[in-house]
Amino acid sequence: MIANFPFEIALNEAHFKIIGEVADAMQVPCYVIGGFVRDLILERDSKKDIDIVCVGSGIALAKAVQKKLPNAQKVQVFKSYGTAMVQAGDLVLEFVGARKESYSSESRNPEVEPGSLEEDQNRRDFTINALALGLNKDTFGILLDPFNGLKDLKEKRIQTPLEPGITFDDDPLRMLRAIRFATQLNFTIAPTTLTALKKYATRIAIISNERIVDELHKIIATSKPSQGFLLLEETGLLEKILPELTALKGIEEIDGHRHKDNFYHSLEVLDNICPNTDDLWLRWAALLHDIGKAPTKKLVPPAGWTFHGHEFVGAKMVYKLFKRLKMPLNEKMKYVQKLVLMSSRPIVIAQDLVTDSAVRRLIFDAGDSVDDLICLCEADITTKNPKRFERYHNNFKIVRQKIVEVESRDQVRNFQPPVTGEMIMAYFQIGPSRAIGTIKEAIKEAILEGSIPNELDAAKEKMKEEGIKLGLKPHE
Ligand code: ATP
Ligand code: MG
Repeated sequence: MIANFPFEIALNEAHFKIIGEVADAMQVPCYVIGGFVRDLILERDSKKDIDIVCVGSGIALAKAVQKKLPNAQKVQVFKSYGTAMVQAGDLVLEFVGARKESYSSESRNPEVEPGSLEEDQNRRDFTINALALGLNKDTFGILLDPFNGLKDLKEKRIQTPLEPGITFDDDPLRMLRAIRFATQLNFTIAPTTLTALKKYATRIAIISNERIVDELHKIIATSKPSQGFLLLEETGLLEKILPELTALKGIEEIDGHRHKDNFYHSLEVLDNICPNTDDLWLRWAALLHDIGKAPTKKLVPPAGWTFHGHEFVGAKMVYKLFKRLKMPLNEKMKYVQKLVLMSSRPIVIAQDLVTDSAVRRLIFDAGDSVDDLICLCEADITTKNPKRFERYHNNFKIVRQKIVEVESRDQVRNFQPPVTGEMIMAYFQIGPSRAIGTIKEAIKEAILEGSIPNELDAAKEKMKEEGIKLGLKPHE
């Protein structure tokens, strides 16, 4: 939607008036600019971070505004950037003096000097991000739109204000931002801008992994991330950032044996999971669940193409990928690994008769991730055959029911065998030794298999039996 109101009214919140008055008193022209204006016009959920640009010192303006703004916290000054931030309630106001920039080819950090508003708008990444609204008394609510950003908003188009090659060469991060905004806003990228993206894709090499991951996260968080990944692929950027994914591209056919294109399949799975979860890491797992298929692919006639052990290889690749991109190597990474590793398990269960012991093992191995794992497997159903589609989904409904039943009866999620190592040592009067591990494992297996209940007495009985097998003597 494009807002159809006088912008003056849209700026009805008190802080805009206050900023304007302070700027008037200081005699500096002052504007709200960038994302806030764009989202205001698009009637998107108005974000609370607001960029203010003035023709003068942004830091001095921030300090003066801070004194007049109710609940404003101390000004935070970022001297090297010439910016200052004021927080007031849930508002975050960023102040900067209008500037012009010149770049060198080695870095995305430009030489900066004070400039006019037009020069400041010139250096912005896209026409839709260069819109500014006046805040001074005599300009209040007047839209300054030197690059027809409003038209691009209406026509849902991403394009750069200047020649796109210059814009992307100066700061290659903008290439990812172009694709991210296209995905978030469901816009298309103008043909000349798209051509430049392809031409300058290799320049992404100078961008830090943290910035790249930031943009990837934003793409993955949208309601249809495939749009972004298709653009990343088309422009050659994906090959540079996530070669594990582009390696999945293509369908090979030998002697009538074909396999599906696992790249498009992965994107479909990612899109499929989005309505069911906002969890970033579950979405990552959906995207990466098949990455092990490229290195494990093999034609084994007469069966056809196999991807033996791809889950295991994929889980290892998750670690390397996170490490390369400087993503956290913490429990989030382990969670993604676990889901990739287990991504075929529920499918096998759903295909067979669902036995209690298979479900118990699944719950035990997946622990708290078991529901997420089923969610991933449901998203993994990309068959175009409606009968199969329905059958597979029904099978997972049965698996889900079984999980609830088995879980409420046997409580095997994160379970600890009811007999501890200390109990085994005391019972057989032995010190720490391998026998303890063997006995514990046998008890765990018996519980998961369902041959004994998950209870202390039964477990003690089993302990005795297993110990005797190992030649130990009970001391009751
Ligand atoms: P969002 O906050 O939703 O990501 P935004 O447009 O506010 O969107 P920010 O990163 O907050 O994006 O940047 C604020 C504004 O600063 C942008 O609207 C744009 O005008 C400008 N800007 C940000 N990054 C760049 C860049 N790399 N190159 C040029 N201009 C940029
Ligand atoms: Mg912003």
